Amino acid sequence: MKIATPSEVFGGEARVAMTPDSALHLQKLGYECLIETGAGKLAGYSDDAYRAAGVKVVEDPSALYAAGDVIAKVRPPEPSEVAHLLPGQTLISFFYPAQNNELLELARSNGANIIAMDMVPRISRAQKMDALSSMANIAGYRAVIEAGSNFGRFFTGQVTAAGKVPPAKVLIIGAGVAGLAAIGTATSLGAVTYAFDVRPEVAEQIESMGAEFVYLDFPDQQQDGAATGGYAAPSSPEFREKQLAKFREMAPEIDIVITTALIPGRAAPKLWLADMVAAMKPGSVVVDLAAERGGNCDLTVPDQKVVSANGVTVIGYTDFPSRMAAQASTLYATNVRHMVSDLTPAKDGVIVHNMDDDVIRGATVTKDGEITYPPPPPKIQ
Ligand code: NAD
Repeated sequence: MKIATPSEVFGGEARVAMTPDSALHLQKLGYECLIETGAGKLAGYSDDAYRAAGVKVVEDPSALYAAGDVIAKVRPPEPSEVAHLLPGQTLISFFYPAQNNELLELARSNGANIIAMDMVPRISRAQKMDALSSMANIAGYRAVIEAGSNFGRFFTGQVTAAGKVPPAKVLIIGAGVAGLAAIGTATSLGAVTYAFDVRPEVAEQIESMGAEFVYLDFPDQQQDGAATGGYAAPSSPEFREKQLAKFREMAPEIDIVITTALIPGRAAPKLWLADMVAAMKPGSVVVDLAAERGGNCDLTVPDQKVVSANGVTVIGYTDFPSRMAAQASTLYATNVRHMVSDLTPAKDGVIVHNMDDDVIRGATVTKDGEITYPPPPPKIQ
């Protein structure tokens, strides 16, 4: 069978779903690999690098789609891309079925089998395919780099002949995958780092990475808002008030805020309010990784960098992984080839779409003309 990767058509998207290295692995699984001309260019992979790895470079996207038994891409397909898909063909990409009902119906109606990388169950066995985590890791790292390039000072404290420099104070709100990556990056650059999450179980992880967990003065010292499956639920009004009061108290001292707080199925909670931005020092920076879901900061404008009246830069970019396209493509392509590996038990270049496998079942959103989303809960953890 053949696996084909087209160029991403979403404006500004620089990632690619197949790298020369992942193609070598896919060939060992028995597949022929095809890529559209120039598809890897923005991620740093030339057509010649693909050819050297045994990949066939195809000029015409229609011919590429027609040739592939499996299409591997990054972004959810545009309707024009779904139109290329054929009955029985398999598409592997991000899909976000809960937000893309019409797209789901379109894919169902043309009979393609869709594997959504964002629906891979977050269980230990599937970590190698967990593209949400690999992209969130990059976003957390890049958020700190972006903050640093907009912050006119060092992260680390210094004593120099030209004067004493205090370390930057960084607050990370939300310590999931992206938040923990941001903590690791900020502390390794020498910042004094604080982090807050509604899930009390992350306190240990935060502290093990060198940051200080921000506790609230709340009955029995428990954070509030942990839900099942390691995700957050909305906080109670009393807890939220305590949380906002704490942030208000910290705002004048904090140089950089990185917000990553998300609650499944809901708009991002507003946690860094306009008055907190107004209380920050000029030159401070807020990076809002929740911008795509409405933002954690009142001043966030998705995809833009704005400067508040008191000189605080608020960054709402929604394309952090694409801003590190080489790294993001390497990790995403690895996630994809692990998914293909699980779909190819005999390593003979033949897809076996086993709906009894929890991971494959969980990620499959259309199959044989049926919508198979949402999946039943996984049997194993
Ligand atoms: P996410 O992107 O859904 O949310 C980011 C963080 O925001 C979470 O830590 C959440 O608790 C926090 N948050 C929500 N509301 C908040 C508020 N009001 N104030 C402060 N913080 C708030 O989370 P994620 O990064 O996708 O991770 C979700 C969970 O999945 C975590 O427990 C993570 O460890 C787990 N996970 C498990 C695996 C696995 O293979 N076992 C893999 C990846 C992630």
